[in-house]
Amino acid sequence: MRKKIVAGNWKMNNDYQQGLELVSEIKGMMQDEVRTNTTVVIAPPFIHLYSLAQLIKDGSNLHLGAQNCYTEEKGAYTGEVSAEMLKSVGVEYVILGHSERRAYFNESNAMLAKKVNIALSKQLTPIFCFGEVLEERNSGRHFDVVSEQIAQSLFHLGADSIPAIVLAYEPVWAIGTGVTATTEQAQEMHAYIRKVLTSKYGKGVAENSSILYGGSCNSKNAKELFSQPDVDGGLIGGASLKSRDFIDIVKSMA
Ligand code: PEP
Repeated sequence: MRKKIVAGNWKMNNDYQQGLELVSEIKGMMQDEVRTNTTVVIAPPFIHLYSLAQLIKDGSNLHLGAQNCYTEEKGAYTGEVSAEMLKSVGVEYVILGHSERRAYFNESNAMLAKKVNIALSKQLTPIFCFGEVLEERNSGRHFDVVSEQIAQSLFHLGADSIPAIVLAYEPVWAIGTGVTATTEQAQEMHAYIRKVLTSKYGKGVAENSSILYGGSCNSKNAKELFSQPDVDGGLIGGASLKSRDFIDIVKSMA
């Protein structure tokens, strides 16, 4: 059975104190209100990871993710953070290939293939993001763009590795814009992604792989998006910065 997952990507938001407060609130609400077996992941900036790991380690049912890691093991890469460093402070997940990293930091499919490899080798679960820009959707190329992103970054892997990766379909035109994909658009693409996985790895692998939707998902639209048969949860940006909104999204996953 594939996992149901809601992951919050804070991006470059929240200073130390704000981060502690937000996670304390989320932790309390999780304990009081959340009865689902959804896996809940919080992905703060690197600098907060160790402190937040201490805050959630007492069985709070929250998991920690990073927003990036570097392609190499270690060495002279000033300013970078390795997969092993993340693992050593209690991180379990790492977001890779977010459209902001692709657009602002020139992360290519080939580079992301290396990041996926190193994350898996350190037993981190990649949350691998991909999705088309508006112009690609408007010209009908969205399916090709998505299958190419998946193939170029993941298809060198053996079948055993694929269910160890969380896929996140994030249409770039929906990220931070307030424009959400319709439930039909989300389900259509998620079903297509499962078809792409099936043709490469077989139905068993495709059925066991979690595919999240991301892009202006909020407490109002989450329930309908998550009710789609191929949508296994969400990657949440803006709405993960408010404890009430984030927890309501988690509760939509019931
Ligand atoms: C994201 O950045 O992964 C995201 C989904 O952002 P938002 O929810 O703000 O659109």
